[in-house]
Amino acid sequence: MKKILFSYVQPAMVAAILVFWAFVPKAWVENAGTLTIGIALTTLFVLGLEWLNERHASWRLTKKEFFTDLFYMVLSMTVIAWVTARLAEEPLIAAKHALGITTEWAMHLPFVVQVVLVVFLVEFGQYWMHRLMHNYTPFWLTHAPHHHITQLNAMKGAVGNPIELFLISLSVVALFDLPLNALFCAFHILSVVSTFAHANTRCDPPRWYALFFTTIRNHSLHHSVGYEETRCNYANSLILLDRVFGTYRDGEAELVGQDERRRLSILEQMLFPFQSMIAKIRAGRGYA
Ligand SMILES: [Zn+2]
Ligand SMILES: [Zn+2]
Repeated sequence: MKKILFSYVQPAMVAAILVFWAFVPKAWVENAGTLTIGIALTTLFVLGLEWLNERHASWRLTKKEFFTDLFYMVLSMTVIAWVTARLAEEPLIAAKHALGITTEWAMHLPFVVQVVLVVFLVEFGQYWMHRLMHNYTPFWLTHAPHHHITQLNAMKGAVGNPIELFLISLSVVALFDLPLNALFCAFHILSVVSTFAHANTRCDPPRWYALFFTTIRNHSLHHSVGYEETRCNYANSLILLDRVFGTYRDGEAELVGQDERRRLSILEQMLFPFQSMIAKIRAGRGYA
């Protein structure tokens, strides 16, 4: 009974988020804080589930992990969100207006179709960016800090070098005319799926759900120790893309990390892509 109940938590949350944003009052949608509060609440809920039904004792949240992850959650919702809006979304919207691109038709689609469209557009971009990061060294150096995490929990999806967090947030969604509640609904669904895909919970969803959405089972395999083992299951939330593009691999891992499971400090995560540059400067000055 407990197993069945926990297996339906993820699809039930996706459905609840869909219903919430479909009927949310207009004033709430116009308040930028609503999505942030929504994401914070769903993350707290999943942290509660970890406490109720954990997957691995070795992933149990410690104070050190909690405060590191909280730092990244705040960073993502403030600095990264601001930089993405200024450097990517606003120029894209300006180009859209300058070129006279209109997608008025998208405003008239049913709400669920609008949400599915945004989920697909975001995930399609993320899938290829993530795959590039695992196949081209300069991009891997920005993404590797996310793979140096040595345990998984509900907030770990937010952990990464800021350059990677910016690159992975790029999408073409701004080119489409869509209502705000559909956009926020899609972002909230992507967030909750990714939260569960990193969470230390034993809430294995039904097979039909795992056919479309990324789960902790498949995403933990992506966090395997050893670089070659990580080159599968790239989709952050829509595992269907891995199935379509031939990068899906079944299985799961408990031991996660890179570089003999060395845990990086926040400073090391920030400086990771510049390691060789720093080493060269030090060598030049005779420090090395
Ligand atoms: Zn990866
Ligand atoms: Zn991950």
